Amino acid sequence: MIFVSTRSKLLKSEVIYDQCPNCRKYNCVRILIYQLYGCIFWIPFIPSNKIGLSECSNCGQSLKLHQMPESFRQNYDNLKRHTHAPIWNFTGLFIAAILAFVFVIAFAQNEKKMTGFILAPQKNDVYELNLKDDVYTLYKIKKIVSDTIYFWPSKFQTDQASGLSDIADKGDKGFDESITVGFPKVKLLEMHKTGAIIAVDRK
Ligand SMILES: [Zn+2]
Repeated sequence: MIFVSTRSKLLKSEVIYDQCPNCRKYNCVRILIYQLYGCIFWIPFIPSNKIGLSECSNCGQSLKLHQMPESFRQNYDNLKRHTHAPIWNFTGLFIAAILAFVFVIAFAQNEKKMTGFILAPQKNDVYELNLKDDVYTLYKIKKIVSDTIYFWPSKFQTDQASGLSDIADKGDKGFDESITVGFPKVKLLEMHKTGAIIAVDRK
């Protein structure tokens, strides 16, 4: 379960000269600016709104932005204009961007590797196939003749990609050596593009 929360952090505070509307004293009201930020699993992800408060150090009166007199609000606006969300508020966003980048690189490398295996096949390469909806199986290369690759299909099928490791565990005995299925490389590349070839395993 993803745990999302909002937190706040005091960004800036400044004592203003203006008179407190409650105790009538001057130079004792402090304007505070808080930054709200969203967290995912306690990691700051992205900054949200800023909120303002005023506090009188003499009488203790605290006012929210909408309760402040106009002069307080002008002070708040001035202060806010020079206050920016700290960079650590974006920590989660940076982490997500780095993970996305790593994922894209890994995906591209895997694509390159698989295409390389299909273009330069070796006997005993094992192909993980998604033949149609909910039908997964393995094919093992028996021989290569020119641009055509011949496989022994597995005797077993599974309805989930995660079940392919169980079929692989059956080893060489799991392949039906009485049947040979041939595909031209072009067809295999197309099957890889459409997702019918999930992976190619080479020992
Ligand atoms: Zn006061």
